[in-house]
Amino acid sequence: SYRKGGYHAVRLGDSFNGGRYIAQRKLGWGQFSTVWLAYDVQSSRYVALKIMKSAAQFAQAALHEIEVLSAIADGDPSNGKCVVRLVDHFKHAGPNGQHLCMVLEFLGDSLLRLIKYNRYKGLELNKVREICKCILIGLDYLHRELGIIHTDLKLENILLISTIDPAKDPIKSGLIPILERPEGNPNGGVTMSIIEKKLKRRARRAVARISEGRDSMGGAGDRLKLERYLDGIDMRCKVVDFGNACWDSKQFAEEIQTRQYRAPEVILRSGYSFSVDMWSFACIAFELATGEMMFTPKGGQGFTEDEDHLALMMELLGKMPRKIAIGGACSKDYFDRHGDLKRIRRLKYWSLDRLLVDKYKFSETDALEFAEFLSPLLDFAPEKRPTAQQCLQHPWINFRNVTLNKAKSESSIEKVAVGVSKLQIKRTTHHLT
Ligand code: ADP
Ligand code: MG
Repeated sequence: SYRKGGYHAVRLGDSFNGGRYIAQRKLGWGQFSTVWLAYDVQSSRYVALKIMKSAAQFAQAALHEIEVLSAIADGDPSNGKCVVRLVDHFKHAGPNGQHLCMVLEFLGDSLLRLIKYNRYKGLELNKVREICKCILIGLDYLHRELGIIHTDLKLENILLISTIDPAKDPIKSGLIPILERPEGNPNGGVTMSIIEKKLKRRARRAVARISEGRDSMGGAGDRLKLERYLDGIDMRCKVVDFGNACWDSKQFAEEIQTRQYRAPEVILRSGYSFSVDMWSFACIAFELATGEMMFTPKGGQGFTEDEDHLALMMELLGKMPRKIAIGGACSKDYFDRHGDLKRIRRLKYWSLDRLLVDKYKFSETDALEFAEFLSPLLDFAPEKRPTAQQCLQHPWINFRNVTLNKAKSESSIEKVAVGVSKLQIKRTTHHLT
């Protein structure tokens, strides 16, 4: 895609916006853009530079994203609302055309990365709580104060806040700015946090040893190192990627959200509002706590991915009320007039709290409390779902676990043991595996 209308090729040390930003290393990319770590010479800070593809439709999308991000920044002068901050934006002329560029505050790894480092095991519930609280603060701000729906909440779009501030301590963080293109060495300059990198590598090795069964008891020690590494991360995060966001009063697309996080009213085309974000939020909270997605629908013989998705929802949350099932513009594709799925007839019901206990080995109390928090967010009636503001008042969010560290590490060792033996409750249905 590095051609006319496509991505802009960047080399380390390239400068942008009249020399203000110097490219340091690539941070990531998306469908529309590449994102670079850049050094802001003016403020002596690191920033994330999002460079859009140059074709007209990408420029259009970028202008929209800039409009949303500007509204977000304008409404939150103190930058305390757990949503990414736009610092600057400008146009950059390159061989492939004009690229719109957004300068964003520099954030850390995504929650998806965090779950990967943790080998797809759930995070400790106190950590889940902290992350959830941040996301809710962000959503409450977007929904109630700005009237914005994100429409694409998922683990990749929540980034941790980097614990080491490279601007304050460049040596310790290992981030030393490259101010011009390094001669000869394309990877010249130290541009990643050495400390974080080392800790991550060590943690990864430890987990690999444990999961391969090479280190069953000694693994506990390594496991504790990993725990300590994770413990060391202040679990604060921010919502990013407003490329698909819309105003409740000005919506653009009927089909929104990434499949696994999609609300039922979007599948049925019954219209949507802020509560679609609350559905995705519940999916995220479940995934953080269990390490697995709540719904992973697949098409099969005689049924589509949409139908499987609706079936999975009902198996976990109970039968969809008839009025809601038949109320959407696409309802007839899936449901008969009684409100039963046309092509998937036998559903295997399994309640959320039982799933948490049986499959994910939650204690009865943890499972009940967590399910009590999540279930209302997964109401088939969108208007009955609690708002972000209401969730922030919920006892589960405000619960402080005062368990001693000893008890904490014992329970995490127990969780590892379960992971090693690959203990899984097998079900005959293809819906819940
Ligand atoms: P797209 O809209 O093209 O999907 P995103 O805004 O999701 O682009 O950014 C793509 C990737 O770049 C993200 O998944 C993340 O890895 C990285 N990234 C984006 N914004 C930041 C930021 N502010 N700080 C650090 N990394 C970022
Ligand atoms: Mg993205």
